[in-house]
Amino acid sequence: MDQGLVFNIQRYSVHDGGGIRTLIFLKGCPLRCPWCSNPESRKKVEPTTWKKNGKTEQIGAWRSIDELLDEVLKDEIFYRTSGGGVTLSGGEVLMQSEFASAFLQELKKLGIHTAIETTGCFSVTRIKRLTPYVDQVLFDLKIMDRSEAKKVIGVDSETVRENFEYLLTQEQIQVIPRIPLIPEYTTNEKNIQQLIDFLTARKIGEVHLLPFHQYGSSKYDYLGREYRMKDVQTLTRTEIDTIKAKFERAGIRANIDGLE
Ligand code: SF4
Repeated sequence: MDQGLVFNIQRYSVHDGGGIRTLIFLKGCPLRCPWCSNPESRKKVEPTTWKKNGKTEQIGAWRSIDELLDEVLKDEIFYRTSGGGVTLSGGEVLMQSEFASAFLQELKKLGIHTAIETTGCFSVTRIKRLTPYVDQVLFDLKIMDRSEAKKVIGVDSETVRENFEYLLTQEQIQVIPRIPLIPEYTTNEKNIQQLIDFLTARKIGEVHLLPFHQYGSSKYDYLGREYRMKDVQTLTRTEIDTIKAKFERAGIRANIDGLE
């Protein structure tokens, strides 16, 4: 598998891993989070189209490993001076796990720091393909109740737990749980407590909290899809701080947006 379907490349990012990074967004995601800010990435690993400002545009292009290496090596100096590197995002990276593994392997040969973002929603076999070549995993934890997770986002939270547990056994990998703070879905008291219990039982000392935003809303119009979160208010700073304090009282450092 020497080609991957990529729907975006973002250079000079200071989110999603340490230092200055290039983010490569791989297309395809089996989940259906109502708050998704990259709805163009969802569903199958195949190009799609949207209509933006009256023009039809293709989303997703097949890119070879060599093409992507040329792209990311333009910023190698920034990775080295800032402690950055390359992050594979999505969509869900595990949808293209063979390609991701081959690409990450090449990055490691070049000594570049590698990170992936994942929801851990497939059998552990897929993540095992990547782990020899990954330095850091930004692992999304969303809804902990099994039936609620299945109903709202279409993921079996048992599978998510298994992937998370497996990653914790890989001592060479830094695992950072990331929790999207989504009103009505992830921020209710029960879910926050379940998250805290899950993390403290595994002696996790740090999480990143990602407050809900509306940045992806116009993409739903381009795609002709309904955006169910359009009337949902973003959280106030006080509400965010209240949630942060709950994690910190349990001994878990909570970093807002991964930037504090
Ligand atoms: S896992 Fe990420 S890309 Fe997939 S639907 Fe949820 S928010 Fe969107």
